[in-house]
Amino acid sequence: MDPVASGIDPNVAHPARRYNYWLGGKDNFAADRASGDELERHFPKVRLGALANRAMLQRATRFLAEEAGIRQFLDIGTGLPTADNTHEVAQRYAPTSKIVYVDNDPLVMVHARALLNSSPEGRTAYIEADLNDPARILADPAIDETLDLKQPVGLMLIAVLHFIHGDGAAKPIVSHLLDALPSGSYLVATHATSDFGTPEQQALYRQLVESGKSDVWTRPKDEFEALFEGLELVEPGVVPASEWRPEPGAEIPERSDINVWTAVGRKP
Ligand code: SAH
Repeated sequence: MDPVASGIDPNVAHPARRYNYWLGGKDNFAADRASGDELERHFPKVRLGALANRAMLQRATRFLAEEAGIRQFLDIGTGLPTADNTHEVAQRYAPTSKIVYVDNDPLVMVHARALLNSSPEGRTAYIEADLNDPARILADPAIDETLDLKQPVGLMLIAVLHFIHGDGAAKPIVSHLLDALPSGSYLVATHATSDFGTPEQQALYRQLVESGKSDVWTRPKDEFEALFEGLELVEPGVVPASEWRPEPGAEIPERSDINVWTAVGRKP
C-alpha cells in the first residue's frame, strides 16, 4: 500500500484503528495494536472504557430518536463501522432518520461508504474533514443535501473531542457547530478524563501525552461541562459514560475503570 497515495499509513497508529482493536475488531494494523497495548499497560481497564463509550453512543442515539424525536444526526468522529452504528440505532427507532458522518481518517471513510448503508426511508452521507475546521464541515455540500438545518439536529461528538489538543481548545469548535443548529437540537458528547486517576497516574498520563505516546488529550469535568454552557442538560447530567441512563440491571463499573465523561444537552 502506498501510504502517500491512499492517505492510509499502516505504520502510524490511528485512533480509529486502535479503538477498533480495543473493541475486538479486525480493522487494525500492528502499529495500532502496539499503541493500544502501550496504553493498556498503563491503564489495564482501557477496553472497559471503550466498551462503555460505545454503549453510551447507542443509548444516547436511541434516546434522541425514540424520546426526543430527533430525525437528523451529525456524527463527527464516526469510527470504523462496528455493531450498532449511529444510523442503525436511529433508523431502528425512526426509519426516516438522516445521518451525516464526518471523520478525518481516510480508512474510516472507505469502510463507512461501503458499510454504513441507510434504510430505504432514510439517508446517510459522509464527509472527510477535520473537526478542527467546523466551518469546512458545515459548508460541505453533503450537509445541505442531507440535512435541513432549520429542523433540530443531534450533534454527536462521541470520543472525538479528546483529539483536539490544548486547554480550552474544544469549546470554540463545539460552539461554532451549535451556533449553526436550531433550537431543539441536542449535543451528545463523551470525553476521556484523568479525573479518576491517582496523582501518580495523572502525572504518568501527562508524561505519555508530552512524549507523544498518547494522542488522547484528557479534560477535567469542569472543562467538559463548559461545552454544554447555554444548553439544558438532560438528566442525569454530567456522569461517567456507564452511568448515563444505564440499561436496567446493568452492572456499574468503578469510575476509575471507565475514565470517560458524558452528557446530553438540549439547545433551548
Ligand atoms: N464515535 C465513535 C468512534 C470513536 S473513535 C464511537 O465513539 O464509537 C474516534 C474517531 O474520531 C476516529 O474514527 C478518528 O478517526 C476520528 N477523529 C480523530 N480526530 C479527528 C478529527 N480531528 N477530525 C475528525 N475526526 C477525527
